[in-house]
Amino acid sequence: MDDDGQPHTDRSANPFYATQHKVALRNTGIIDPASLDDYLKRDGYKGLRKALALTPAQVIEEVRVSGLRGRGGAGFPTAVKWKSCSEAPGDVKYMLCNGDEGDPGAFMDRSIMEGDPHTVLEGLVIGAYAIGAHQGFLYIRDEYDLALAHMKTAIEDARAHGFLGKNIQNSGFDFDCEIVRGGGAFVCGESSALMTSIEGKVGEPRVKYIRSVEKGLFEKPTVLNNVETLANIPYILLNGGEKFAELGTDSSKGTKVFSLVGKVQRTGLVEVPMGVTLRHLIFDIGGGVKDGGKFKGVQTGGPSGGCIPEKMLDLEIDFDSLKESGSMMGSGGMIVMDDTTCMVELARYYLNFLAGESCGKCTPCREGLRCMLDILTRITEGRGTMDDLDLLEDLAYTAKEASLCELGRTAANPVMSTLRYFRDEYEAHIKDKR
Ligand code: SF4
Repeated sequence: MDDDGQPHTDRSANPFYATQHKVALRNTGIIDPASLDDYLKRDGYKGLRKALALTPAQVIEEVRVSGLRGRGGAGFPTAVKWKSCSEAPGDVKYMLCNGDEGDPGAFMDRSIMEGDPHTVLEGLVIGAYAIGAHQGFLYIRDEYDLALAHMKTAIEDARAHGFLGKNIQNSGFDFDCEIVRGGGAFVCGESSALMTSIEGKVGEPRVKYIRSVEKGLFEKPTVLNNVETLANIPYILLNGGEKFAELGTDSSKGTKVFSLVGKVQRTGLVEVPMGVTLRHLIFDIGGGVKDGGKFKGVQTGGPSGGCIPEKMLDLEIDFDSLKESGSMMGSGGMIVMDDTTCMVELARYYLNFLAGESCGKCTPCREGLRCMLDILTRITEGRGTMDDLDLLEDLAYTAKEASLCELGRTAANPVMSTLRYFRDEYEAHIKDKR
C-alpha cells in the first residue's frame, strides 16, 4: 500500500513486478473484489458484451486465434474443447469452473477468485454462450473461505445487474450458475471425479472412453475450465485473440501464473509470458536462493510434477518444454530447493501425499504408490538396496501406463525425475546406509 492507503499500481521499479506481464492477474490487488463498479471501471464485462454481439462460433474462433490452452494442468486447447461441446447433440449442456486447487504450494486460482471474482464469472458466461449452456457450476475448494465469499457476492451482483440470469444484457441469452463446495479430496480436481462430486456421488474418476464434452455432468455435454483459464477469456474477447497470441511461444500462447515458493528470496504469484527461462523467474524475479544458499532444483507442476536441476535453469518454460524435461506445467506451482534439500526425502514427501490422496479405485495406483512409498522409506532409513531402484522404476512405469486417471499416471513423476537427475543421492543413501 502507498502512504495514503492506496494499493501500489506503479510496480515498474520493483524487480519482483518489473518484468511480469499481467493478464489473468490484471485486476488482483488493484480493485476492490467486492465492488462491481471497480470491475466495470477496469473494462469489466466489456468482453461479455462483445461476445454477445458475435455468434457462438465467432466467439470460439476468437479463442482459437488466441491459442489459449487450459491452465489447469493438461494444456488442452480451450477452443477445441468448446467447439466439440458446442457441436455435441443435446439441448442441455453445462459450463463448469474448476476452483478445487489442491497442489501443495499453489494458490493462483485462490488469488484470482479472491481478488477478481467477476473476471472468473465473466469468462464462465462467455464460455456458456459459446457452447450453448444455460446452467453452470463453480466447484470451489471448501477451505477457500474468502474465495467462496467473494464469488458468492460477485454472482449476486452480476445477477442484479443483468450479467447473469435471464436475457443477459438484453441479448436473449439465459445463463445462471451456482457454487458447489469441494469436499477436500485432491482427486476431485480431476474432471470426471469433479463431475460425479457435483452430482452428489462419491468423487471418483471414471474411464474416459466417452469424452465429457459429449457426456459429462449428469451425462450431458459439459465443458470444465479452470479458474485461470477463464480469467484469460474476457481479455481475449475484449482485445482480440491475436493480441493474446503475441505473447508466449509457438505452442503455448499468452502468459502463465506461477506460485513461486520455497527457498527463494521473493515469494508470491508471478505472471510472465510463456517461454521465459527458469533462471529469469527464480533469479531475476524471485531474487535467487534465500539466505545466500545454493540453488539445487525446482519442483514444477505440483506433487505430480518433477524436479528440474541447476543445469536446466535456462529451460524456456512452456507446456511442451516442461513435459520433455520429465516434469510438467501442472497448475503452475514452483517450489525452489537449495542444497540442504535431500531429493530422496523430497520424492518420498510427494509420494506420501499422493498415496494418501489416491481414491483406491484402481490397483496400479492404490497398491503401486503404497509399494513405492515403502521402498522410498526403506532407502531413506538406510535399509535400501540397489535392486530397489530397478523396482521403483518398474512400479513407476506400471502406475504411469495402467492407472485409471492422471493422479496415478503422473504420481511417479517426482520419483522418476529425481532418479533421472539426482540418482547419486539415492545411491549414497543405499551405499552409506544413511
Ligand atoms: Fe483413483 Fe488413483 Fe485410480 Fe485415479 S489412478 S482412479 S486416484 S486409484
